[in-house]
Amino acid sequence: MQSERLPHTVSPAKLAQRRIILDGNIPLGKLDRLSEQLVKIDTDGLVALRLEFGKDKQGFTTIVGSASTQVELICQRCMEAMTFDLNAVISLALVANDEAASELPDRYDPILVESSGLIPLRSLVEDDLILALPIVAYHDSPCGYVDDKQTEESGVEASVENPFSVLEILKH
Ligand SMILES: [Zn+2]
Repeated sequence: MQSERLPHTVSPAKLAQRRIILDGNIPLGKLDRLSEQLVKIDTDGLVALRLEFGKDKQGFTTIVGSASTQVELICQRCMEAMTFDLNAVISLALVANDEAASELPDRYDPILVESSGLIPLRSLVEDDLILALPIVAYHDSPCGYVDDKQTEESGVEASVENPFSVLEILKH
C-alpha cells in the first residue's frame, strides 16, 4: 500500500497484475473539469482516494474504490454557499476500444487505455466525482444558518428605523 504521495500517471494493467491498492490524496485543484463546476475552488482541498487494481473472474482488468472530498456549492433556496460532501464510487474496467466498451457488464464504466498504457490518475476519478455532484444543491436543514442571519439583519433595520421616527417626531 502506498499512502499520501500518489503518482500523476499510473499504468492500470501493471498495477492490476500486482493487485496494488492506492490509498492517498490528490489536490482538488488538479481536477480542472470538476473545479469548473464549483463556486469556489478550495486550493488546499484534497480528494481522498482509494483504488484497488485487479482482475475479476471474467478476466476484466478492474479499478474499484472510492473518491471523496468536500466542495462548495450554492444552495438554490437561499443562494448562499454550502459545503457538500462529495463521494464517488469508482468501478472501472480497462478497454482497448469503443467496441470492447460496449460489451462491458453494467457494473463497470469503461476506461480507454492508450498504447502507452499510462493514464493520468485524475482521469480515473474525475468523471465519477462530477457525476456525483447534485443537479440542484440545497442545505440539509431549511437554510438555518441564513435564517439566523436574516433575523440579525432585520434587527439592525429595526434599530435604524427608530432614530428616523424620532427625527420625524422632532421635525413636526
Ligand atoms: Zn440554503
